[in-house]
Amino acid sequence: MTAALTPFLLYSDGQGNIFEDTSLYAVGRSGWDAMPVEATDWIELPEGGNLYELPGRKGIGIDVISGEMRLCEKGWAVAAFIPPAHTGLYMAAYETEPGAPTLPLFCYTAAGWLNDQFFVTAIRIESDIRQECAGYDTEKIETGTDLLLKSYPHNRLVKHLMENCCMTYNCPAARNFAMGRWECPVPTSPACNANCIGCISFQPEDETIVSTQDRLSFRPTAEEIVEFTVPHLESAPYPIISFGQGCEGEPLLMWETIRDSIIEIRKHTQKGSININTNGSKPDAVKALCKAGLNSMRVSTNSVQKHIYEKYYLPNNYVFEDIVESLKVMHQCGGWTSINYFVFPGMTDSVKEYEALRKLIRETGLSMIQWRNFNIDPDWYLGKIGITDTGELLGVKQLMTLVREEFPQLKFGYFNPPIERITGNFEMDFAH
Ligand code: SF4
Repeated sequence: MTAALTPFLLYSDGQGNIFEDTSLYAVGRSGWDAMPVEATDWIELPEGGNLYELPGRKGIGIDVISGEMRLCEKGWAVAAFIPPAHTGLYMAAYETEPGAPTLPLFCYTAAGWLNDQFFVTAIRIESDIRQECAGYDTEKIETGTDLLLKSYPHNRLVKHLMENCCMTYNCPAARNFAMGRWECPVPTSPACNANCIGCISFQPEDETIVSTQDRLSFRPTAEEIVEFTVPHLESAPYPIISFGQGCEGEPLLMWETIRDSIIEIRKHTQKGSININTNGSKPDAVKALCKAGLNSMRVSTNSVQKHIYEKYYLPNNYVFEDIVESLKVMHQCGGWTSINYFVFPGMTDSVKEYEALRKLIRETGLSMIQWRNFNIDPDWYLGKIGITDTGELLGVKQLMTLVREEFPQLKFGYFNPPIERITGNFEMDFAH
């Protein structure tokens, strides 16, 4: 977008109808503060993005005449849920009225309107198209679901993945599995050793928000895992199987079963990548899985500062240092290591966080940062972890530039890479 143009603020009538307010330019939010956004930080809302009205919240904008920042009194604030492969640079800016409901577990990126188009403050960080909404063929998904359920009639995990994940939660990974391509999800653990404030698979009774999916209720066997993962690795393009999904607790609590399944899988095929998405809490279990044949690990985190991490993860019987150790162990075993970095403008791009990130990258030999959007109500999150002032900020884009310059070997993205990118040309073209 050219420098001169700034989108107008959006508001809703509370009935699901969204309008632009041409008396106000849209701004962004970082931490607790509203601020003007560079015109170059706006992109058209990518396909697959959604717009949300935010009940009990009034949008903040810049008056097109006075240049003063003020509230939009015409309706509720509006934010965007940007699609995978894109990272938000600013959150929606609004003032929350007393008694406003806590927002559900989605990301709330700044949005605006200009020249008959919606705009958001974001960048595309990933070239892989595995979760492009245009790529999902409902008929192929339904046919694939039927075929998998018929092919594995006694497999509880296939039943869970197809009936719950694919057909109920519309999980992008489960839908790709039904279409016989790319990354196949392998949830295993009904339990977790953390108590994340924004957990998407479990929310305490007394919380007003709900988890976006239910946690797995059984422990699959290695036989159930091997039965469908070997054919997937053998036949899918760019095949990956990934332990650790949004519909379960912590997979490292099931490391023995995962170890046994990996050993058995590798007896049948050497194809593809075997990955685990984890909270990284058990470095010894990671070592055992490396020995078994695990070649990729992604550790999720809201921060690489101990005090901020532990206030959010509320870990049972492990500490922040354990996740750092897990990254080191995986790297020492020659494995690919990523962090699933929950990007929160105003926290992720603070100078203190940046310094801690540089230290982590140096100490662990990290392979990749997956710059993910933090799906959480900003006020609720900052309130829960006791943040009143976010300190000096760099800006998310500037942070990425600094990290890329200092660590040119470090890869940026949004998804776990297939073995073709891990061992070959990482910047390969993804026009599958
Ligand atoms: S580590 Fe994952 S499953 Fe466990 S509490 Fe956190 S988000 Fe939930």
